[in-house]
Parts: sequence; structure tokens; C-alpha cells
Amino acid sequence: MVAHLARAAWRARLLGSFLVALAPFVLPTVSAGSAPRNFSTVVIDPGHGGIDRGGIPGQRVPEKTMALDVAQRLGAKLRQAGYHVIMTRNDDVFVSLGERVRIANQYRDAAFVCIHFNSATREGANGIETYYYSTKSAALAANIHRQVVAGTMTDNRGIRRRGYFVLRRTSIPAVLVECGFLTNPTEARLALQVSYRERLAQRIANGIIGKPPEIHRPVIAGLTHVPAPIRQPINYYDFVSAAPEYHARTRQSSRSRSRHKSSSSSSKKKKSSSSSSKKKSSTSSSKKKKSKHSDEE
Ligand SMILES: [Zn+2]
Repeated sequence: MVAHLARAAWRARLLGSFLVALAPFVLPTVSAGSAPRNFSTVVIDPGHGGIDRGGIPGQRVPEKTMALDVAQRLGAKLRQAGYHVIMTRNDDVFVSLGERVRIANQYRDAAFVCIHFNSATREGANGIETYYYSTKSAALAANIHRQVVAGTMTDNRGIRRRGYFVLRRTSIPAVLVECGFLTNPTEARLALQVSYRERLAQRIANGIIGKPPEIHRPVIAGLTHVPAPIRQPINYYDFVSAAPEYHARTRQSSRSRSRHKSSSSSSKKKKSSSSSSKKKSSTSSSKKKKSKHSDEE
């Protein structure tokens, strides 16, 4: 009997150590991005507003309206989750970038989240991208980005580090989410749906709260590639691409870049060139005038 018990105990120990060894392979891995909740206040910054419509000239769906709606939904969800929420604007009013930063910097124990939608002269450009600047903002950017990408079917355009004014001048962790391209027919249609904006807000909230995403999408999983009807000259006013990537890219891939805002307007004049030689010359001239986005002062 004693021998039998000893044998059973030995078997249990063996099984236990086997399971421990196996655990990393069979147990779901906890997302590295599930950061602890280390702030109690969230300053939400809906992009643009008032005279600043956002997007590019002629864009049908106004960025300022979509951004405010998602931001307000996000605010409601975060309040529900127990966060103290501050909005840099709660209406269709113009708020300068300096004022947005000033509001954010009044808070400690806080995070700053800017809500934007993207735009490009090329209709086919689509997808989600998330920006941060300081290292302390990287985990928050990753959490939000993973969540939003997991909840949408558009391209994952990645998490990018850029020195936009509102990201660089804020003393608290700061992230800017581009919730899709309003110049892309599919994403614009989605953005006009309340349920989609609600989902975007929920996803961003999940990221802020630090929930790991339920599914992991591959890096590029776009289903909404719409071929560009007209080939536009390369747009170096690109809000999206970081300088090092820009040098490495081919002309082909550069076409897929987007522009965020139209405050610098000279590139739109080059839009309609039809001959390839003309296209080349406009390309090189726009290259020389590499832009300074108004967010990047
Ligand atoms: Zn914007």
C-alpha cells in the first residue's frame, strides 16, 4: 500500500513537471502589451474642429466630425471604466495645438490620446496607424494599436514614432490614433456607421485599459485595397512615413503614402498631371519641398 502510494506520488510529480515544461507551448501567452493601469486620468483630444475641418480639400466626410464622435464615445466608455476623462474639445470648435498641449500638461497620472482619421489623394490608401513620440508612450501606443487593428478589417499600417507637436510637447504619455482613411470609399462608409465608430471607441478604450486583444491579425491583412483609379504624383507631404523609411522605399510604394492634412497646399496643384514626364518633374519638385506638417512644429 505504501509502495503503491509512493509510486502514485512519483507519477503525479512526473506529470506535474511534464506539464510545467509544456506550459509555454500550450497555454495562451499573455500579451506583452497588457500594461498595468498606471494612470487614472485620460485627456482625449479629438482632432481638428471649427474652421479646421481636417482631411484634404474636397473630402466628403469631415474628419473633425468623425473624430469628435469617436472621441466622445471613447470618453463615455472610459468614464464607465472608472477613469477621469478630460476632453480638449467637446464641440465643433477650433482648439489650437498649443492649447491642446496646455490642457494635457495640467495633469499628472494621466495619458493623452488624440483621435484622428486619415486622408490621402489616392483613394486606395486605407488602414489604421498609431503614433507616439516618447518611449514612455510606446506601450500605450502598442496596446491601442493592437486593439484597433484586431477590431477592424482594414490594413495594419503600423505603430510609428513621429515628433508631432501634440506628441512631443506633452509631458504625459501621448498617442495619436488614425482610425482609417475617410478618402477611402470603404473606410468612409464604415466611419459613417454608428456601430463602427462605437467599435473603434471600444477598441481604443480596451487599449487604454490594457486589455489584451482576443485575436491576433497578421501584420498586413487588408481586405479593402481599392486600386487607385488615377495614378497620382508621389506626395511628399505625407503625414505618415518617417524619414528613414522614405529613403528606403521605391517609387511604387511611395505612391501608397497618404497625406494627413492639407494645411500646406502646394501639392494639390500637381494633382492632374497626365503625361509621365510631367509626373516625373512634379515628383522631383515636391521631393525638394519636403513638407513640414502643421502638427510637427
Ligand atoms: Zn487629423
